[in-house]
Amino acid sequence: MTKKTRLPFSSISIEPERTNGEKNTVHTNIPTVKTEPRGSLPVSRQTHRPRDAKRSTKNSTYQYSKFGKSGNRKPKSGNSQTQNSSQGSSKIPAPETGVVRIIPLGGVEEIGKNCTAIEIGDDIIVVDAGMYFANESTPGVDYIIPNTTYLEERKDKIRALIITHGHLDHIGGVPVVLSRIGNPPVYSRNLSVLLMRKRQAEFSHLPPMQDNIVEKDSVIMCGKIKVRFFGVTHTIPDSMGIIIETEHGWIVTPGDYKLDQIDGIVTKDEEKEYAIFDKAKVLLLMTDSTNIENEGFSLPEIKVHQGLENLIKKINGRIIIAAFASHITRLAHVVKVAEMLGKKIALDGRSMKINIDVAIEANYFTPKKGTIIPIEEINDYPPNKVVILVTGAQGEEFASLNRAANKTHTKFALNKGDTIILSASIVPGNELQVQKMKDNLTRQGVRIITYRTGGEDFVHATGHGNQEDIKWLHRKTHPKFFIPIHGWHSMLVRHKELAMEIGMSEENIIVPDNGSIIEISADGEKIIMRKEKAPSGVMMVDGTSVSDTQGVVIRDRVMLAQDGMFVIIALIDQKTGKLKKSPDLISRGFVYLKENQELLHQVRIIIKKSVEDSAAQTQKTFERSNGSTGQNDFDNIKANLGENISKFLYQKTAKRPLVIPVILSV
Ligand SMILES: [Zn+2]
Ligand SMILES: [Zn+2]
Repeated sequence: MTKKTRLPFSSISIEPERTNGEKNTVHTNIPTVKTEPRGSLPVSRQTHRPRDAKRSTKNSTYQYSKFGKSGNRKPKSGNSQTQNSSQGSSKIPAPETGVVRIIPLGGVEEIGKNCTAIEIGDDIIVVDAGMYFANESTPGVDYIIPNTTYLEERKDKIRALIITHGHLDHIGGVPVVLSRIGNPPVYSRNLSVLLMRKRQAEFSHLPPMQDNIVEKDSVIMCGKIKVRFFGVTHTIPDSMGIIIETEHGWIVTPGDYKLDQIDGIVTKDEEKEYAIFDKAKVLLLMTDSTNIENEGFSLPEIKVHQGLENLIKKINGRIIIAAFASHITRLAHVVKVAEMLGKKIALDGRSMKINIDVAIEANYFTPKKGTIIPIEEINDYPPNKVVILVTGAQGEEFASLNRAANKTHTKFALNKGDTIILSASIVPGNELQVQKMKDNLTRQGVRIITYRTGGEDFVHATGHGNQEDIKWLHRKTHPKFFIPIHGWHSMLVRHKELAMEIGMSEENIIVPDNGSIIEISADGEKIIMRKEKAPSGVMMVDGTSVSDTQGVVIRDRVMLAQDGMFVIIALIDQKTGKLKKSPDLISRGFVYLKENQELLHQVRIIIKKSVEDSAAQTQKTFERSNGSTGQNDFDNIKANLGENISKFLYQKTAKRPLVIPVILSV
């Protein structure tokens, strides 16, 4: 994750007494403010002015807008994701008797932060609570979790949080979500629970998680609802599907899955897992759309295991394998192969170490003592006796492989003759950073093998089923109703089309958005989407705060990144309504002030005129009224100043910095 650097003056509301002695290279002279702390004003002046008139007026920012006049920027609702973010959902009535309500709270207008609520009678079951990392549209935010407002308002009905598997897009939001929805019991299989405990431990201020380990053939009661499970194939062990029993049949959601098959022939073990559906009456299927655009069956993981094994045998020098730390099944296989060939394995990258530790702790595999060596010891062995497993296949800035590529890794260096295997596909959006990393690696004389490198040896396979896997699942579960989940909207629609191609009728399929409220009628005959929506604004975890109303903060960050900021500090003489001195100007990320003296000169003239015009107006009102000026007058001066300056700066520079006027008066 990128390290955050805060602007040194992120809190711009200037408390006079605190300015004293503070180091500030740009404006060292806010005179009266520094020498005359609040409270030490002459009594006469204090009597005819509000006590806090000398303080800066409350902050607001201005930005020139091409569409009409610039002004005080208010939060506005954007796309469908933020429209109902700050409203509650308490007006939405409870489902009627016998009705099954389903609300995808995350994961259906995106890949990530999967979360679905199922509400029947007095009971709510939540399936998965994922996250995704912030992106360009949410700078500085740590990560995004599903919107929990609907659940927060119905805490007393929530019987369970059930987790399908241990990937972050399913468990990443668990600690924060649990703390917001009343800490209900959590159910999942062994490895997923161990991974969740590790994550929960990072949130030591939160109450402990009430976890329960289930097996794939367990049956549990969540309030009055009976829930059972089945095993699915995915890139992490202990992945499971969920079956929720209703009076009209089962609700089935397999979580992430691909079929364990070779050339379209599904293995016996896999057939056995799904045999429970042969005679079952499936009311509703909700399933993954991630790979809906990929034809055929997904490449079996076994081919990747074979490919990596061949390469580890064939390659003569040192091998460095970069992979998703979450692909535990594959990583465990690499460790086993290396051990078998008498090679040592070193791990690097925090998530890589944690996940291997957890897999060993879960008894998923048991390497011999001495197989895994500390990264510091790799040079004690000949290069062809060492395999290094690292994070950073996506070119992430601070991940192990990228640091090695940049020669900033303190624990190991690449050597000519090393082979790097990127055992991962490139996640859309990461292409450029991966390319840069590959260039840096190439400069060090290493050989790179990726999933695109030709030949028989596969180094990566997707963890999600392709079209044929998906069709197979639909036929196997033969549901009455269908809701595509996990994917961008276009993928969900494609998934709907696929379901129709194999015989479902359109009225039995609903394509949801985050927050859509879908209901199956009490007689089990109809599926509809209600017109109300559960709140679905993105819930951002930003440092220690969690909220779905940070749109303004985020927009400011985006604007600051684009055009910077411009701060004006003007000191006004209360009596004359004139500037006491030339205003202080501070800019960051806008233009280089030293090279723009003429612009600054003009800005100062405009400030003087703007302030004095506004003050004169105020003065008139002041004389007509009972003779006291208040906060409103300063707000007025400030607003005019903000508008005039932001407009002027745009005209002169074609840039739209955030303009922050600060008015001080004596
Ligand atoms: Zn997954
Ligand atoms: Zn997933």
